[in-house]
Amino acid sequence: MDPRRLVPRTDVVLADARLAAAAATLGHAQVKALVNAAQERARRGEIAPEHVADAAAAALPAGPTSLRTVLNATGVVLHTNLGRAPLSDAAVDALAAAAGHTDVELDLSTGRRARRGRGTLDALRAAVPDATGVHVVNNGAAALVLAATVLAAGREIIVSRGELVEIGDGFRLPDLLESTGARLREVGTTNRSALADYAAAVGPDTGFVLKVHPSNFVVHGFTSSVPVADLAGLGVPVVVDIGSGLLAPDPLLPDEPDAATSLRAGAALVTASGDKLLGGPQAGLLLGDADLVERLRRHPLARALRVDKLTLAALEATLRGPTPPTWVALRADPARLRVRVERLRESLGDLDADVVATAAVVGGGGAPGLELESWAVSLPERLALPLRTGQPPVLGRVERGRLLLDLRCVPPERDSEVASAVRRAAVGQA
Ligand SMILES: *Cc1c(COP(=O)(O)O)cnc(C)c1O
Repeated sequence: MDPRRLVPRTDVVLADARLAAAAATLGHAQVKALVNAAQERARRGEIAPEHVADAAAAALPAGPTSLRTVLNATGVVLHTNLGRAPLSDAAVDALAAAAGHTDVELDLSTGRRARRGRGTLDALRAAVPDATGVHVVNNGAAALVLAATVLAAGREIIVSRGELVEIGDGFRLPDLLESTGARLREVGTTNRSALADYAAAVGPDTGFVLKVHPSNFVVHGFTSSVPVADLAGLGVPVVVDIGSGLLAPDPLLPDEPDAATSLRAGAALVTASGDKLLGGPQAGLLLGDADLVERLRRHPLARALRVDKLTLAALEATLRGPTPPTWVALRADPARLRVRVERLRESLGDLDADVVATAAVVGGGGAPGLELESWAVSLPERLALPLRTGQPPVLGRVERGRLLLDLRCVPPERDSEVASAVRRAAVGQA
């Protein structure tokens, strides 16, 4: 008999318990496509007809989307390639709750349209009382683009040559600003800028003076820059891009600029990211003078940069809720990290693994140059690939031919998953 006639029918294969369960989360069409592909392989004689369901089940994706959740053992707290800040449980709950219909733009008591995301804006105002106006857009770059468009399109933005940064993936702040139709008026030099440089550039065409936090590099040596308080005396608006989203000063990061201090020093507007040191979802924060923020909010471009209800929900829960995972990781006690790493080492038996002192970093354009005392288990470099491609993927960092797994950003309850992943990776490599 023609073996093709033995290939089971689609509905029969779809009745397999694994595939039926997957169809409930992945959708019927996606699972059916995998079944059809497995049937096709059976018709070509590549697999036995009785293995069609197994082949389709083996091809099922690990989750409902192509995004894989990973364990961050890199020791980089805010890793842009790993999605920066992980959300708190409270923020995740808020996000899920907001996924259905919500009153995001409706006042339930009057039945009329209400200010979109007002609860989030209230929480932001409460967190930064020095800002009389607050607005939220899609990300930090969008916040800067909106400010440049409204305050300086066709005019000049005065900025120090020491602050013309590339933020990553080839995106450069000067290009971003000029894309709005504003002209950059560069002052000072790479290492030094003085108040007189700015003062000489101020004129009738000035839209604003911009101060950018050079968030991913540090210049050492013969350097000087001008504090916000001095710039504020120039008689033109000062916009400060603090980058990381630190709302108030924190002793752990003494050199990191924060929103409250910048506003108190006289900044008209502060722009920042929601998913860096704030520890929330991707968002751009605009904090400052109420009239100015209202002008930004009313500009047509603001509509194109609007955030969705999921972002508003996660941001509000981050602002009001418990310490986000980012700050739990930043403040992790090195002595406790060492105990966890030693326990991980012990669970690996006779594997080539050592406990080493290491330095974690903030990452994500925050606190460049700052090293956080940390501990890692050091493994053969060849385990990097199997760990990265395992389930769950575990990401470490390679240093001098060794793979370091720093547990700072791994929730302690998941240490045993790291241990199992390392053992599996080592067995696969043996
Ligand atoms: C990260 C950063 C940005 C861009 O913010 P996104 O939220 O990534 O768009 C802009 N300026 C500075 C100084 C930054 O550090």
